[in-house]
Amino acid sequence: MHDSPTQPASLALMYHRMGSPLRRSLVRGQYVTAGCLRSHLRTLAALGYRPTTLAEARRAPGCFALTFDDGYASVGEVAWPILQAAGVTCTMFVVVDAIGGTNAWDVARGDCVERLADAAALRALAAAGMEIGCHTLTHARLPECSEAQLRAEIVDAKHRLEDLLGRAVPGFSYPYGAWDPRVRDAVIAAGYAYATATQLGPLTPDVDPFTLPRLNVRWNTVGWLMRRKVARAYREGAR
Ligand SMILES: [Zn+2]
Repeated sequence: MHDSPTQPASLALMYHRMGSPLRRSLVRGQYVTAGCLRSHLRTLAALGYRPTTLAEARRAPGCFALTFDDGYASVGEVAWPILQAAGVTCTMFVVVDAIGGTNAWDVARGDCVERLADAAALRALAAAGMEIGCHTLTHARLPECSEAQLRAEIVDAKHRLEDLLGRAVPGFSYPYGAWDPRVRDAVIAAGYAYATATQLGPLTPDVDPFTLPRLNVRWNTVGWLMRRKVARAYREGAR
């Protein structure tokens, strides 16, 4: 089914919120409806991709892994039942200080308020097979942080999330996709196994595990636009 004569590399997709874009939202592209998510699963299956975890997608070709940044309550309420019914798992990266709260970092610049999953919801999702990863304490722009702030956002956040979940947290996601060598080194030193960034590209065994590429999926990334984005990821990866 795939255009490539060889088995394609794997892909990681990046989502944020579930639902219809709110007119007053500053980040309307971050909303994906249930119908849009179902359409993505159909397109990826038609292209020959198998669903798996982020860790496995880095090792095996022909797979896709879904990631959700920021920890919105709508991921557990809307996306997770669809994914479970389809036999698909995902990783959700949560902002530890904001668990059970709202998207204060977006509201501060004028966005509408959205609920974030609370501790009980995160424990239930983890128990049901969703991987919960760390997306800092406060959604800070990490390259601008002092050493002390960096430690809190990367190390303290990991320990607090592990205490809350009662399990290891191997995954990290850079807010705004913003990282530099100092930030990446701090993530490695904190004991994370991998970190996701936001540049476009395929997931292959030779990509840097601490700046994993992802496809940013927006509300209108459906049908041929989804196929075009997948093709662009391979072109970027071939550079
Ligand atoms: Zn984020």
